[in-house]
Parts: sequence; C-alpha cells; structure tokens
Amino acid sequence: MAARLPLAILLALAAVAGRAAAQDYDFFYLVLQWPGSYCDTKQSCCYPKSGKPAADFGIHGLWPNRDDGSYPQNCNPDAAFNPSKVSDLLSSLRAKWPTLACPTNDGLRFWGHEWEKHGTCAADVFDEHGYFQAALRLRDRLGVLAALTSAGVNPDGGYYTLDQIKGAIREGTGFEPYVECNRDEAGNSQLYQLYFCVSAAGDSFVECPVLPRGRPCGSRIEFPAF
Ligand code: AMP
Ligand code: AMP
Repeated sequence: MAARLPLAILLALAAVAGRAAAQDYDFFYLVLQWPGSYCDTKQSCCYPKSGKPAADFGIHGLWPNRDDGSYPQNCNPDAAFNPSKVSDLLSSLRAKWPTLACPTNDGLRFWGHEWEKHGTCAADVFDEHGYFQAALRLRDRLGVLAALTSAGVNPDGGYYTLDQIKGAIREGTGFEPYVECNRDEAGNSQLYQLYFCVSAAGDSFVECPVLPRGRPCGSRIEFPAF
C-alpha cells in the first residue's frame, strides 16, 4: 500500500506526524501557593518525605489558558512524566514546588499530575525539562514573599485587605496577581494562591487577559503562619 503512495504525500504525512502540537492557548497562569493556607484547613496536609517545606510561596502549576477562560488539558497521553528527565531539578522542585498531599510522598505524583494535565499542552514551547525549569525560574524572578514582607504584610496570623496584598505585590514585583482565598479550620478567609500571567512563549510576565475562576477573598484576609 505505502509503496504506491507518491513520495510527496509520504513526506507530507511524515512532516505532520513529526511536528509539535499546534499552540492551543493564549497565555499561562503561574499559580503560587502559600503552604500555611493549604495545611491549616479542615482537610489538613502531609509534609513531603524531604520534610517540612520552607515558609515561602511554592508552585502549584504553570497552566496554559485561553483568552476565553477555557483551557486545554491532558494533551498527550504518550508523554508520561519521566523523573529522570528532571533529575537535575529535583532538589529545586522539592524546595519550591512541594507536594502537600496525603499520604506523605516524594512529590513525583504532584509533579507528574501537573506535567500530564497542563505541561503536555504546552509542547510547542516546552519539553518536560523546559516546563519545570521555566516555572522555577519564573517563580524566582517574582520574589513574592519579599515583596509582601517589605510592605509589612507578614505571615504571622494577622489580617490584611485585598488592596494591601495586591498593592504590596505590584510594588515589589511589577505585576498584580489575582488573589485566591480559602478558609482555615475556623472558617476565616485566608491568602491561598496567587495567579500571575505569563506570555504564550512562557518567558515573560504580562497583564492577565482574563481572570481565573478561583475563589474570591473576603474583606479581611488572614495571612497564616507556616
Ligand atoms: P490542578 O492542580 O491542575 O488539577 O488544578 C487545580 C484546580 O485549578 C482545578 O480544580 C481547576 O478548577 C483549576 N484549574 C486548573 N487548570 C486551570 C486553568 N488552566 N485555568 C483556570 N483554572 C484552572
Ligand atoms: P485546589 O485548587 O486547592 O482545589 O486543588 C486542586 C487539586 O490540586 C487538588 O487535588 C489538590 O489536592 C491538588 N493540590 C493543590 N496543591 C497541592 C500541593 N501543594 N500538593 C499536592 N497537591 C496539591
């Protein structure tokens, strides 16, 4: 059969098969998470095998998203997470992308979930190593905790307004995130996750084209210790 197909058609088919998936998103959300707010909920948390993470914002994920608010997911079932491709990043991932899920584990499950659900949808710009490296570098470039603390917004169990939190981060990083809150065990609204927007090329922060569907905050927002 194949022997009868003209060479030009065979070459065209091979080109399509070998090409990286076309881009199906407009920007990324870089989602950072305050571990204290993951852990002090009704559901609680488990520290990873490597021990209690630093009291700093960790990465939840780098998520391709479309301007209409929708997003692609699980784009390549053949691209299963392969830890050996990120062996040089593992110590940074443990420190800056900590799993807090129970039972206690080494983090591979969380990173694998994020790569398979979200990372595989950005194959036009990132392979597995590039995806994790980009998220780590973007997080480091922001310095969110320093931005907050230098404006007097400290993780000490005190309460702040949404404008104080957004203003401190805008002042210190140059970008204003979407702030997502959750509730602690007593029902208080608290600072949980920060959504920053990143260009489709994955290399620079941009104003957000659309706000995420995260849970909004009350007027008094707790910043719990961790
Ligand atoms: P994940 O950790 O990727 O499973 O996502 C956690 C939650 O964030 C999901 O339950 C979704 O509601 C939300 N989410 C995940 N990806 C996106 C995205 N690209 N844009 C907006 N919300 C998202
Ligand atoms: P949420 O956005 O809090 O509803 O989380 C959505 C999903 O992501 C849930 O399945 C969480 O368990 C998972 N998740 C969020 N943050 C972490 C984390 N630091 N470690 C492990 N799983 C997480």
